[in-house]
Amino acid sequence: MHDGRYISHVRDVAQKGSGWLDADTVMSSNSYKAALCAAGGVIRVTEVVMNGEVDNVFTLVRPPGHHATYERAMGFCLFNNVANATKCALATYKLERILIVDFDVHHGNRTQAAFYDNPHVLYMSTHEYPFYPGTGSIEETGSGTAAGTIINIPLPAGSGDTEYLGVFEQIIVPAAIRFKPQLVLVSAGYDTHWADELALMQVSVTGFAQMVKIIKGLGNELCNGRLVFSLEGGYNLMALAASVKATFDMLLGNIVIEDPLGQSPPRFEVPGIASLIKKIKEIHNLA
Ligand SMILES: [Zn+2]
Repeated sequence: MHDGRYISHVRDVAQKGSGWLDADTVMSSNSYKAALCAAGGVIRVTEVVMNGEVDNVFTLVRPPGHHATYERAMGFCLFNNVANATKCALATYKLERILIVDFDVHHGNRTQAAFYDNPHVLYMSTHEYPFYPGTGSIEETGSGTAAGTIINIPLPAGSGDTEYLGVFEQIIVPAAIRFKPQLVLVSAGYDTHWADELALMQVSVTGFAQMVKIIKGLGNELCNGRLVFSLEGGYNLMALAASVKATFDMLLGNIVIEDPLGQSPPRFEVPGIASLIKKIKEIHNLA
């Protein structure tokens, strides 16, 4: 979770009216309350899913969480919503295996760190690399009894639907099936969309929908559909809205997906990632 002094500091900055927590992370007077609601909200909906009150949930929360450390803010994130909910679920329900899928364009460095030596959590991240925050290489795989429970899929700038779906089908699906999670949490970041100016990927709304379809299929097959999606990044509001709606549609089983932005205009050469996929499969003994 988080250091008590850090939580007090965030509260104090909000009470003063505003302030910067790190070079990227600015706060307003309402940010502390929003961050508490985000952190508590994801914990609460995870309970709702675990108690069988609903099959799956999507928490529309901000600030995002996957860069937030134990004792400081980082990269727009105040509290680590998904990591905290995962820890609560492990403790409350005595779960043995929780899967976290993180498709935000940035590596979830502090979610990875929170579970680096915890064999009960499989963290799989697709992210632009090299890029902020600098972590997420294929060599970071977990330590001790948790060796192999971190699967990083660092993708070159320009990767789009084809590359992401290839990675999902060839790495994420077999690794998830092997791990047999009892619950799946998703750090759903939509800054991977081609229109998002924070990064250089080329995923479309349709691509996100296909990824969500795969995750939903895994949830149905492996853990009675128990899925908790939590919003991370996504800074082009049109792309964010359309991508989140497509995610809702997929979770609700709607067949028609609206993609008002369409495919990326040709901006980058599509990178070849066959050798990268092969290398990751070798590292993690995936057939
Ligand atoms: Zn991000």
